[in-house]
Amino acid sequence: MKNSKKHEYCQICRRLLDNPRDPLSGDCGGDCWGCIGAIEAEMGNAQSLAYVRKEYEAGLRPGWIDPSTP
Ligand SMILES: [Zn+2]
Repeated sequence: MKNSKKHEYCQICRRLLDNPRDPLSGDCGGDCWGCIGAIEAEMGNAQSLAYVRKEYEAGLRPGWIDPSTP
């Protein structure tokens, strides 16, 4: 057994993962949902895009550009 899981950070943006005060910090296999969601949305994952768009509208993703916008 390893030591109990300590703070882990996103490999991409260094955000603290699973931070209860950060809705985009969910652990997606070592990266945060903030990064993974945006990447999946850009790759055409409709479900991820729907989530990301909602988060953008809620003000959680300032500066995000909807990949389906011309
Ligand atoms: Zn990240």
